[in-house]
Amino acid sequence: MKYIGAHVSAAGGVDQAVIRAHELEATAFALFTKNQRQWRAAPLSESVISAFKAACEKYHYGPQQILPHDSYLINLGHPVQEALEKSREAFIDELNRASQLGLTLLNFHPGSHLQQIDELACLKRIAESINIALDKTEGVTAVIENTAGQGSNLGFRFEQLATIIEHVEDKTRVGVCIDTCHAFAGGYDLRTEEACVATFREFEQTVGFNYLRGMHLNDAKSALGSRVDRHHSLGEGNIGKTVFSWLMKDARFDGIPMILETINPDIWKDEIAWLKAEQK
Ligand SMILES: [Zn+2]
Ligand SMILES: [Zn+2]
Repeated sequence: MKYIGAHVSAAGGVDQAVIRAHELEATAFALFTKNQRQWRAAPLSESVISAFKAACEKYHYGPQQILPHDSYLINLGHPVQEALEKSREAFIDELNRASQLGLTLLNFHPGSHLQQIDELACLKRIAESINIALDKTEGVTAVIENTAGQGSNLGFRFEQLATIIEHVEDKTRVGVCIDTCHAFAGGYDLRTEEACVATFREFEQTVGFNYLRGMHLNDAKSALGSRVDRHHSLGEGNIGKTVFSWLMKDARFDGIPMILETINPDIWKDEIAWLKAEQK
């Protein structure tokens, strides 16, 4: 069973995101539980929490179908202590918000060294941030997203994801989300079935499918190995449709949210319908 959807807007309240997902005939969705470009947000009110839960119940979305994404401002590998503390606090708040909504996953970008510390030190710092946050929260798994490797962002190599996981104490509450655009920009070819097989064989050997908690389905405007993060609609970019059709037929991707972050929300409904049909 594939859970397929898109990262929908939560404008008007997180409960509105559920309705938008339903309108897309999605069987999964992603959302921000607060404004992703601001540090502070008002706590979720009891009425918003119950409206969200009621909408999920009404439209049949369980926690395994929902992948909230944290704020873009958070850098869990920040080289400067004060800024690191601020990110850690905000990350704990994100985990708590997910938990309040009855959710069990939180998707985030690992972090950036900002050219101030070396790669391994930054990866260990990210793992330490995850350890601190998991210790202070309950019930939500930290889902590390692979990045395109733009600037000094880490997590664009599967080895980097594996190093973070290696240093996380509670392995039951850490996982990964693979973004196809980011993987391609990070140097993993996905343009043919053979390339998909090879890329995900490498993923299995380096990280392991037992850690896979979600997928982001995006074509890429950017080139293979360019380390540039530019999403595109399915089949419109440099990856092409093959990988998405291939993913739909592979049972290793069952039971996890598969989320479109493609650039034209007007065709999300069609993209979701096409992905669903490709399962057969
Ligand atoms: Zn992301
Ligand atoms: Zn993504």
